[in-house]
Order: sequence, then C-alpha cells, then structure tokens
Amino acid sequence: MIIDLQSISRSPRHFNFEYQSDWWRKNEGAVQVQNLVQVQDLEGPLIAKISVSREGKNYLVIGRLTGKLRLVCDRCLETYTFSVNRDFRLSLWRSVPPESARDETELKKDELAVGFIAAEKIDLDDIIREQIYLSLPMKLLCKNGCAGLCARCGANQNMETCKCSGNSGHPAFLKLKELKTE
Ligand SMILES: [Zn+2]
Ligand SMILES: [Zn+2]
Repeated sequence: MIIDLQSISRSPRHFNFEYQSDWWRKNEGAVQVQNLVQVQDLEGPLIAKISVSREGKNYLVIGRLTGKLRLVCDRCLETYTFSVNRDFRLSLWRSVPPESARDETELKKDELAVGFIAAEKIDLDDIIREQIYLSLPMKLLCKNGCAGLCARCGANQNMETCKCSGNSGHPAFLKLKELKTE
C-alpha cells in the first residue's frame, strides 16, 4: 500500500489491512536481506492497524501487527508456527537533522525507531515487512531445547534416536578403548 505523504496532516490517517498468507512470497525479492532469514510464509492472515500523521517536517507511523508466521527452525530445519504481536512507533525523517538538533535526536532515538525518507511516497508494505523481521528472535527455534539434527547422519533428534548417539566419542579414542580391554 503506497501512501502519498502530501495527503498526511497532523491528524492521523488510519489504515487497516489484512494480508493473506501468499503476501509474503509475492513480495519476496524486494529486499536482499530476506534471503538470510528463514521466514517461509504467513500462516493465516496478518492484521495490520497503522496510523500515519505529520509532525513538523517528519512523519510518525504507529502500528500494531498481529498474526502468525511459518518459520524454519535453525537447528532441526522443521517449520513451526510463530506468533507476531508487535506494536511499533516509527519516526520518518526527510534528512539527517542538523548538528543543533542532535541532542534532542539522541533522546528521541531511545524511545522510537527512526527511518529516513527520500520521496514523497512511502510503501507501508515495506515498513510492515521490516517490522516483521524486527519481531523475530535472534535464533529461530521450534521449541526450547530443540535437539537439532545429528551431525553424522542428519536424523532429527527430536523425533528419533539414531544409532550414532551411542558411541559419539572420537574414532581415535574408541580404538584406544578397544586396545585397553584386550
Ligand atoms: Zn527445531
Ligand atoms: Zn545420527
């Protein structure tokens, strides 16, 4: 959804969207960094409630995202469901503020995120996509203590105990053991 900033005044304009599950894939490729994160898709609709208002030369975007994502676990590579419940405040600035405004800027930075705009239009989809990424934990795990894949045979250790786990010692030490018992 493209918003023309010239149509935005001090009184907030409200936008409500419901993104369907194919939205994520349709827009994939818009930003390179996406390939680094293992978001497969939305699971069911994602609800976005957003307001945009003008604050002097800048714009304030306040939003709430609710929905579910399908993620790929970093350890076992299985997909799992992750709930997104994110409130955000984003201040959009036309340019880097002058030196005199820096102190005030530092204070503001603590309480809300700052983005820069180059054009008269913004794409709310891009902002929502970025906020979804920001809602993800550093490590994507299907559950606390996911056992991951066996480094030798690739078995999912959450599901099965593979034969490798019995003698997981280093092969060289195993040889020594045999010698001792002879
Ligand atoms: Zn896992
Ligand atoms: Zn194994």
